[in-house]
Amino acid sequence: MKLVFATNNLHKLKEVQEMLSNTIEVLSLKDIGCFEDVEETETTLEGNARLKAAHITNNYGYNCFADDTGLEVDALNGKPGVFSARYGGEHGNSEKNMQKLLKELHGKVNRKAQFRTAVALNLENKQYLFEGICEGEILAKKTGTRGFGYDPIFKPTKASTSFAEMNSEEKNKISHRGIAIQKLVDFLLNLKTT
Ligand code: IMP
Repeated sequence: MKLVFATNNLHKLKEVQEMLSNTIEVLSLKDIGCFEDVEETETTLEGNARLKAAHITNNYGYNCFADDTGLEVDALNGKPGVFSARYGGEHGNSEKNMQKLLKELHGKVNRKAQFRTAVALNLENKQYLFEGICEGEILAKKTGTRGFGYDPIFKPTKASTSFAEMNSEEKNKISHRGIAIQKLVDFLLNLKTT
């Protein structure tokens, strides 16, 4: 089966291709000649995931899935959440995003946070939603150099290191996106056998 993953983030594409390699051929936006960005204008992760998947299916005619992820911090009442990509004021500037978050949490005892991913799948004119959550904490300073986004300052509860100290296989096993994509894979495999 061929499925488009509606993302321009090469880190995410690689993570997901690794998880699906045995089952499903994942095409990138570049593979289908899509070079425009879809603006994330919705107020929820689910809304943005739906929006991005709909753009590809409606304009390019492919079965497709899209994700949106937010970092939800307890002490900030769930912020930055759907605004995680532009928390520091500049879309996609991870350094600014992390610096702002570390400043906001300075001196705070409660550093609990979770990454939450919503995945929307458009398959043969139906839409399905999947969710993945990874609980953890915001570290006091950046640790590790791998990954992307907030990885250097997020330590999952189930791990002893930050995401940025893990290789992608280790991260995929416990990450929000890994969990959501695994649900998608299980769903697709189940479809094939029923
Ligand atoms: P996106 O809209 O799904 O790309 O996610 C929004 C923002 O959340 C990204 O720009 C990153 O800053 C952050 N993010 C998403 N997934 C991860 C992850 O796995 N690790 C660290 N940061 C992430």
